Amino acid sequence: TTPDRYAVFGDPISHSKSPKIHQLFAEQTGQSLQYTAERVPATQFTTTANTFFAEGGKGLNCTIPLKELAWKYADHKTQRAQLSGAVNTLALQADGSILGDNTDGIGLVTDLMHNHGITLKDRNILILGAGGASRGIIEPILEQSPQRLVIANRTVDKAIELAQVFSQLGTLTGCGYDALSGQQFDLIINATSTSLTGDLPPLPDQLLAKGGYCYDLAYSNQPTPFVHWGLANGAAKSVDGLGMLVEQAAEAFYIWRKVRPATETVIASMNSQRGL
Ligand code: NDP
Repeated sequence: TTPDRYAVFGDPISHSKSPKIHQLFAEQTGQSLQYTAERVPATQFTTTANTFFAEGGKGLNCTIPLKELAWKYADHKTQRAQLSGAVNTLALQADGSILGDNTDGIGLVTDLMHNHGITLKDRNILILGAGGASRGIIEPILEQSPQRLVIANRTVDKAIELAQVFSQLGTLTGCGYDALSGQQFDLIINATSTSLTGDLPPLPDQLLAKGGYCYDLAYSNQPTPFVHWGLANGAAKSVDGLGMLVEQAAEAFYIWRKVRPATETVIASMNSQRGL
């Protein structure tokens, strides 16, 4: 029998680590599947996804700039995807319908708590950015009962709007970067895309509490500018999002295959490949 087909769609996509991660999961769990990376511009998303599923494809991951389109594409969605407005995982169901889910948030929380030993309960937490990634991580963070959650964004209206969308789930506030002066946080999560261009959001001094943590959703073969910022500002740990990438992939793999892969060896393997 031919292996079941999966793929990640995005643009750009050539540096995606997802095919390697899913290959390692498949080997580890003895699952027979094929997982490829395809460059799909937003204008071609719907037709390409239709063709993929019509030709027998079983599931898709969607990344920049397709998560909002994937949200619209799904026939039905999990609660966490519904609220986030972004879908990173599409799964063909037995009845032929397409389920949309968002595994980014659970991937982040699992990486923070299980792989880095960083608990979120009663912490003062700051999220930088109010884009698609930020939308996906707010609900799972609120579920851990932080003392306070603040969302700061360059476009202030977007941060305020996000805080309103999620206000039914907990107490959170939205603001601009200027409003951060004089405040301190135990955990600062960078969910902006600044690291991809070698930039940093404008962060005031003393923003990180003593012994606090920094987490950059972005990842690269070198420490990102935000990881550097954390280290320079006395972070007890300042890490990038490779672990989140592996954990969100593990959750997608579970949705598709109903088998949960172990992530520790896969993270170690991906880390050794980039020499960090
Ligand atoms: P979006 O394009 O949806 O959002 C980008 C965000 O970055 C916006 O809040 C934007 O602010 C902000 N931003 C961009 N440039 C600047 C700047 N120069 N100064 C200040 N803020 C800026 O991107 P996503 O939310 O989809 O992705 C964000 C990051 O998260 C990316 O680096 C992505 O790779 C990473 N990611 C990692 C995952 C993982 O598994 N590790 C999973 C998902 C995402 P404004 O609203 O003002 O434009």
